[in-house]
Amino acid sequence: MKGVYKYVVAVIWSNFMVSQVVNLNDYSQESRTPMEIPVMKINVFMMGQTEVNPEITVLINDNIKFLNEEFEGYVEFEFDELFMDYGQAYLPDLYEEYMKHEETATINALIKPIEKKGAINVFLFDTYAQEGTDRALMGFTPRLRTRENEYALNSPNFDRIYMAYDGLYSKSTLVHEMGHFLGLHHPWEMLGSQKLAFGMRTSADESLNHMSYGVNASQFTRQQLEAMQRHALKYRKYLMDRVVKVYAHSSSD
Ligand SMILES: [Zn+2]
Repeated sequence: MKGVYKYVVAVIWSNFMVSQVVNLNDYSQESRTPMEIPVMKINVFMMGQTEVNPEITVLINDNIKFLNEEFEGYVEFEFDELFMDYGQAYLPDLYEEYMKHEETATINALIKPIEKKGAINVFLFDTYAQEGTDRALMGFTPRLRTRENEYALNSPNFDRIYMAYDGLYSKSTLVHEMGHFLGLHHPWEMLGSQKLAFGMRTSADESLNHMSYGVNASQFTRQQLEAMQRHALKYRKYLMDRVVKVYAHSSSD
């Protein structure tokens, strides 16, 4: 984050609310480019839950707070609605269906009737360890491999993040899945030149990155954050509450 922000002026523009942050010491606006920060809405669906569980609602709030910390200055997330639903399934089973293109079965039955348009819908399910291991699936995010401009047309089919309740404890699962949601790939799926373009030069850069697996994942690169911000503004505008325009001093870089 750079620059000094002094006054916030909210104006209504089309159906987005735009907050303009204007530095009153400097009116030579042509020398400053506004940074557009998309504010995206999130709904959370507690699947298989019929009673309020305070531990889980606190965890959900902590996760969204952490999400905002990790995306600070680039993308903002606003917790919109929390739902509880009887519908129950196990995350690894849903993933298997999804990979076999049988997603219509459980997903149509459980999710289609309850999902909401106009927000990123996070569905929480129970998970289990794969046979003979202690590893359990914590999350997955379906997305379009090509024709990303068709996300809005397909809404809400690709506005979903699937997560395990257990994934709420580390807080990095939601950040990782949001990385996928906003167009990022795992480092090991990228060519060396792509990694460099995304600011990952060393193996430490990779293992520390949120898009790696493992306990050390703790950061995005500036290039990743910029890419996700561009992705959100270009393809996911329909999930936004508003865009915040931030005017920063170009000289304070
Ligand atoms: Zn992943």
